[in-house]
Amino acid sequence: MPVEIIRCLADNYAYLVHDPASGETTLIDAPEAAPILQRLTDKGWSLTRIYITHHHWDHVDGLADILSAAPAEVWGNGADAHRLPPLDHAFAPGDTLPGGAVVFDAPGHTIGHVAFHYAAEKALFTADSLMTHGCGRLFEGTADQMFDTIATFAALPDDTRIFSGHDYAKANLAFAAPYADPAALAARLAELPGLAARGEPTTGTTLASERLLNPYLRCHLPEVAEAAGLPGASPRAVLAEIRRRKDAA
Ligand SMILES: [Zn+2]
Repeated sequence: MPVEIIRCLADNYAYLVHDPASGETTLIDAPEAAPILQRLTDKGWSLTRIYITHHHWDHVDGLADILSAAPAEVWGNGADAHRLPPLDHAFAPGDTLPGGAVVFDAPGHTIGHVAFHYAAEKALFTADSLMTHGCGRLFEGTADQMFDTIATFAALPDDTRIFSGHDYAKANLAFAAPYADPAALAARLAELPGLAARGEPTTGTTLASERLLNPYLRCHLPEVAEAAGLPGASPRAVLAEIRRRKDAA
């Protein structure tokens, strides 16, 4: 199933997952209507359903305008329904949804945050939990919750692609430098300017690549604990310290 990556607002990503066999199309997050409706038109796809990752305005503000132009079922986390736009269907973590995604509980950035995993396609839509070369800010949850969220993702196969909610790759990579694998860091630093010049997305990196670049997937490594100033500390303590440093950067 092809994944269409759509830039929205200043630095958000939304995604369309299209199943050629059924003709169904699923939108993941609704930051802004116009670019999403345009992509549906360009592809000749009609919208079947919308999955919401979390309640923040920049993931749901386009919803009303999308629905008025392209009526579709809205799916969101039942535990967060009180602060999500009106849902047609509530799900719970662990559910397998129409369209094929499995819901992963992904608290940390917010408490009700979820991710969507398509096992057959090896695609994980993480929004503001695990991100390209980084992770989301801890607005509501704790570093321990983010650690557990990322540990769940880390158990997935190396060739799983990570589709996050924002294009923060450049800033995240600059911050990640002291904790990253040096060769992988050099290669990615060389690659990013070309992607930007060609207007290509930074999202959709593999878990294998993130294991070399993303500090929050590397907290168990002694050299990363040392770089965080916490030699011998637990991976949880290392993640908390690196996230604290990012907030202070
Ligand atoms: Zn958010």
